[in-house]
Amino acid sequence: MNTPIVDIHTHRLDATAALIAVDPRQFEPQPGRYYSVGFHPWLELDSLTEDDFSLLEQCASHPQVLAIGETGMDRLRGAALDVQASVFARHLQLAHDVGMPVVAHCVRASQDILDVLRSMGLTNVPVIIHGMRSNQHVARALLEAGCHLSYGARFNAEALMSTPLERLLIETDDASTTIDDVAGHVAQVTGTTAEHIKEIAAGNAQRLLTK
Ligand SMILES: [Zn+2]
Repeated sequence: MNTPIVDIHTHRLDATAALIAVDPRQFEPQPGRYYSVGFHPWLELDSLTEDDFSLLEQCASHPQVLAIGETGMDRLRGAALDVQASVFARHLQLAHDVGMPVVAHCVRASQDILDVLRSMGLTNVPVIIHGMRSNQHVARALLEAGCHLSYGARFNAEALMSTPLERLLIETDDASTTIDDVAGHVAQVTGTTAEHIKEIAAGNAQRLLTK
């Protein structure tokens, strides 16, 4: 990694200093950019083939791929929960095998995600819960399980306040805001500066993503 990664999760293909989440079937690495690869829980997961999973594995070994995801679980949208759970489990297993963190989408599904983690015994795989909008109780449960929490354009201030700085990440996801705006908002709530938040986030990202 030459440029530090500040934005841990975006879908903007032209983003710099960011981890760009792509579907392995659309993976076209550009110079100087870094990626996470995975099958989003909103996709038609039922129709994924073994070839698709082989492609995911292949992409994971590309030098510009630093994490697995976007994967995860969503109780409000997407495939049946058991299908989501098994596809999420495959991403976790791959992350474990290649020694990378997972970028996880989690909507009303923190308990489901923690159940998958525990049932697989893969508690050592770093899990980044992206787009963290849940309250401080959910934050606490995720933090106790060792997860990192990534905050974006909208979030619960109490959850943010209960997140230790060493577990904090920031992101733009698919929002039209910039990472500077997100850092500014997070800084306002935590009583520090946007620069400081960006430094913290980049340091955490560096630690998590170094292969
Ligand atoms: Zn996303």
